[in-house]
Amino acid sequence: MTEFGERIAEGLRTAYEGELLHSEHTPFQKLEVFEHPHFGRVLVLDGLIQTTQSDEFCYHEMLVHPALVSLERVGRVLIIGGGDGGTLRRVLEHGPSEVVMCEIDERVIEVCREHLPDISAGAHDDPRVQLVIGDGAEFVAQSDNAFDAIVIDGSDAIGPAAVLFSEAFYASCHRTLRPEGVLVTQSGSPMFQLDEFRMAFGNMNRSFETVEPFLSFVPTYPGVLWSYMTATDGKPVSFTSPLVVRLRLEERKIATRFYNPDLHAGVFALPEFVREICAATVPTSVPHG
Ligand code: SAM
Repeated sequence: MTEFGERIAEGLRTAYEGELLHSEHTPFQKLEVFEHPHFGRVLVLDGLIQTTQSDEFCYHEMLVHPALVSLERVGRVLIIGGGDGGTLRRVLEHGPSEVVMCEIDERVIEVCREHLPDISAGAHDDPRVQLVIGDGAEFVAQSDNAFDAIVIDGSDAIGPAAVLFSEAFYASCHRTLRPEGVLVTQSGSPMFQLDEFRMAFGNMNRSFETVEPFLSFVPTYPGVLWSYMTATDGKPVSFTSPLVVRLRLEERKIATRFYNPDLHAGVFALPEFVREICAATVPTSVPHG
């Protein structure tokens, strides 16, 4: 058994023990896969847990469904990052006409297909999918195609993913989205990754009319409590009623293990400490819900 884990804060780290199945240095990052007795297969990049077989649904359903269910019609979707394919699989459940997935590290896709195949469940091979290997920030900066939704499933704001929290990147995304389009990103732990949370919230507010953080939990992520943010110039995502959420999930024949209509209504209700972070970061921002 090999020990792995991450330092979350001064005096605080996680410790897992598992069997190391794969390890390599790609041109972008250190890539490892472990077999863990409780969480199953675990993908680790630069020492940070990215996804596990047992709790990936907690993350992928909350990253994808609230944003895409808020759209009456899901046409063209852009995914940035997401090499393991869990986000892609959930996006395809909404019946898009086309999905472009821009992942910087081809080795993540290949290794996940080999060692964590049930996370993507063949989504990479769907005929609606166009895989682009490259930097997501460069892709949107050059893109002039309009998307209905952009889903950012990047790693932490260090290394290759740091640019995915920048003002210029969100401005490019805003230009690439249809007027009523929606953007969603993971934005880290509001307890232990405040810089990441503030960067995303502050920089998204510079390009979008409405930015809505929402909270949920992922057992293997630092501090478990995890944040996401939606951004749009259209109707705020939190305004989608539980009835509409239920009807659209039924219409799109989407079965979930985590997300549901009541959760959609609840996750945008932020605790006071998060509201204060938002107000301190963007004084004019008025959290909805
Ligand atoms: N859910 C995880 C999290 O919240 O930390 C992210 C999982 S996913 C595996 C992250 C992916 O983003 C990785 O495959 C990584 O290679 C990719 N990535 C990082 N920076 C990128 C960039 N600038 N453009 C495109 N993909 C990027």
